[in-house]
Amino acid sequence: MDKKTMYKLSYGLFVLTSSANGKDSGCIINTAGQVTVEPNRITIVVNKDNFTHDLIKESGKFNISVLSEEASFDLFRHFGFQSGREVDKFTRYAACRKSKNGLYYVTEGTNAYISATVEQSIDLGSHTLFIASVDDMGDLSDAPSATYAYYQSSIKPKAETPKAAGKTVWKCVICGYIYEGEELPADFICPWCKHPASDFEKVPG
Ligand code: FE
Repeated sequence: MDKKTMYKLSYGLFVLTSSANGKDSGCIINTAGQVTVEPNRITIVVNKDNFTHDLIKESGKFNISVLSEEASFDLFRHFGFQSGREVDKFTRYAACRKSKNGLYYVTEGTNAYISATVEQSIDLGSHTLFIASVDDMGDLSDAPSATYAYYQSSIKPKAETPKAAGKTVWKCVICGYIYEGEELPADFICPWCKHPASDFEKVPG
């Protein structure tokens, strides 16, 4: 069985935002989709390590901002490669506005936002699946939605691999971070995107 077969599934990309107890945060997810039309429901799946996960658990509300092909890598860095537990991602962030539910959505590098209220949550171990009803939505731009494949091919910078003669490096397939060394420690966590060693591939020297 080739585990890379899972890479053939296609995904969109979204900034997921929520707020509780006066705190706002947001993170990047690739797991939002409509599941029923009448009533209009969407699902999202969120890693429990994300601060935004806890805010949704607390408030039962979230927005998704749909990332477009105009999204910059900086936007991914801002929402994806740092934790809302350590950084307030909305203080000094200009490209956002509040929707009717009082939560932020992102206005640049996005083409739409959807506001939703959680109906059910299902514990999946590392992640929670939220089933939510759509309360409101709006269009922001005509730019096409960014797929995960588009992010990989056209938004993520091509890391020039620093290959000193004969040196082996490991590259994070999610964000492009380069680890130099013959062997990558099994418990290595990518310092940029927090993905595990299994998301690194060896780049031979
Ligand atoms: Fe990474």
